[in-house]
Amino acid sequence: MIPTHVWHKVCITAGLVVTLASCSTLPVSPPQQASKVKNIILLIGDGMGPQQVGLLLSYARQAPHGVLTTHRTAFDRILNDGRLGLSMTHPDAALVVDSAASATQIATGKMAGSEMIGVDKDGNRQATLIDKAKQLGKATGLVSDTRITHATPAAFAAHEAHRSMEADIAEDLLSTHADLMFSGGLSHFLPEAAKDEKSALHQRIKAQVGTGFHISSARKDEKNLLTTATQQGYQLVFNKAQLQQATGKTLGLFADSLMADGITENKHRDDAQRTQPTLKEMTEQALTILAKRPEGFFLMVEGGQIDMAAHRNDTGRMLHEMLKFNDTLNAVLDWADSHPDTLIVVTADHETGGFGFSYSASNVPKPRPLAGDAFGKKQFKPDYNFGNPEVLDRLYAQQQSYEAIFKQFDALPVAERTPEKLVELVNKATEFKITVEQAKIVLTTEANPFYQAKHGTLGEKEVPKMPMNSAFYPYQKENRQNLLAQVVSAQQQVVWATGTHTSTPVLVFTHGKEAALIPFSKVLHHSELGRLLGEAF
Ligand code: MG
Ligand code: ZN
Repeated sequence: MIPTHVWHKVCITAGLVVTLASCSTLPVSPPQQASKVKNIILLIGDGMGPQQVGLLLSYARQAPHGVLTTHRTAFDRILNDGRLGLSMTHPDAALVVDSAASATQIATGKMAGSEMIGVDKDGNRQATLIDKAKQLGKATGLVSDTRITHATPAAFAAHEAHRSMEADIAEDLLSTHADLMFSGGLSHFLPEAAKDEKSALHQRIKAQVGTGFHISSARKDEKNLLTTATQQGYQLVFNKAQLQQATGKTLGLFADSLMADGITENKHRDDAQRTQPTLKEMTEQALTILAKRPEGFFLMVEGGQIDMAAHRNDTGRMLHEMLKFNDTLNAVLDWADSHPDTLIVVTADHETGGFGFSYSASNVPKPRPLAGDAFGKKQFKPDYNFGNPEVLDRLYAQQQSYEAIFKQFDALPVAERTPEKLVELVNKATEFKITVEQAKIVLTTEANPFYQAKHGTLGEKEVPKMPMNSAFYPYQKENRQNLLAQVVSAQQQVVWATGTHTSTPVLVFTHGKEAALIPFSKVLHHSELGRLLGEAF
């Protein structure tokens, strides 16, 4: 059922959605003030706490053979003439936020409850920055490298009690009429019958969507939302070439579920055969299209897989996700160079994993002489191993995400899923070699101490055995990845505190006209950040 948004009506004219004061129930805002901006670009690094930004900065500054040859990042660049703030992310009545509540707080300017989408803490649907922008006649867009029904993009254009209601979220997204939606998540737009590969329906959709795609359905009904989208005036695009031809109102679905992870995207970036656009390419095309609107636009871009890498404690993948985000932010800053009437805000919804390089008792370096006169005959001999920066190059060299390694492992016949085989797969894909003894630790299981029947992630009877703090690793099917991270921890010079999120305040980078940046340059809460964004244009 398409929810009725009584608080927001839109007029549909010749297939294009035009929001007019005369047909909207939202209050008309006062005339534009001098400090108001024409365009807002909000970039959200999901899970990108100060620690994740720190990983990118360490890599840029210290990797002996780093790919960022200027040793500078897009974060350096945005602060050349930008400003910095800090924001608390907690939801109503809890210490730690999830992505749905956090993005909702930014999108609506209101406190939300855990796992809610586009509603306030009491469960009331709230207008979002997309609604506000549309009311001002501005164009709107959502871009994410996850799937468009995933929590972060969903919170800007859907209103549901829980983030898991992705089939309903897909319908909400279409009824909100953002001009552009570029992401993965096709399966939530296809009728359940499309699962049957022999059916004429499946074949018809396959012909429509094209090659390089797994066609399936994540719906429990027979609604074909691609048909709905076409009726609502959306042009449909499914690959990079079609994306680059897109001009007006466009729904781009480039994967059945999540788009490529950072390692995969980086590996295939220069392939002529690549059909899936990168996060940067989606963002550049969104800017090209949205910039045509004389009234300006609101665009939200999510680097959504930083969080996924961090949940798995997969540091090599996380570095690649941060490099993906860095490329995208650089493209946005390039664009803004010639569009000064633009406010860029870069933040995170929360930190994930409690990540950090850390000094250790393992591999303490040998003493060495120093020329300095303070040392005399003494040698330079730190008491601990403070970490060799070469580890940054070795993290970059990771060839597959931990997720992909275990996917490969699980695809083997049961008899072949041995510790020796895991050693082979891990040692081929990463520079941080493991032993058979360590593989055994990764593969050890126990009776689920947190078992809950039918729970989305706690419903397995037998789960990987976490040596400590197992309550903080609730994505139990994925916990072999976290265990792999733990056995290579000393080699990587890396520690992770958790498999979930932390309450660490996140950074708020702003760029644009100075007067527009000042309100963001303090300690904020994400609901206030959302209110300020709503007031900025
Ligand atoms: Mg997200
Ligand atoms: Zn998360």
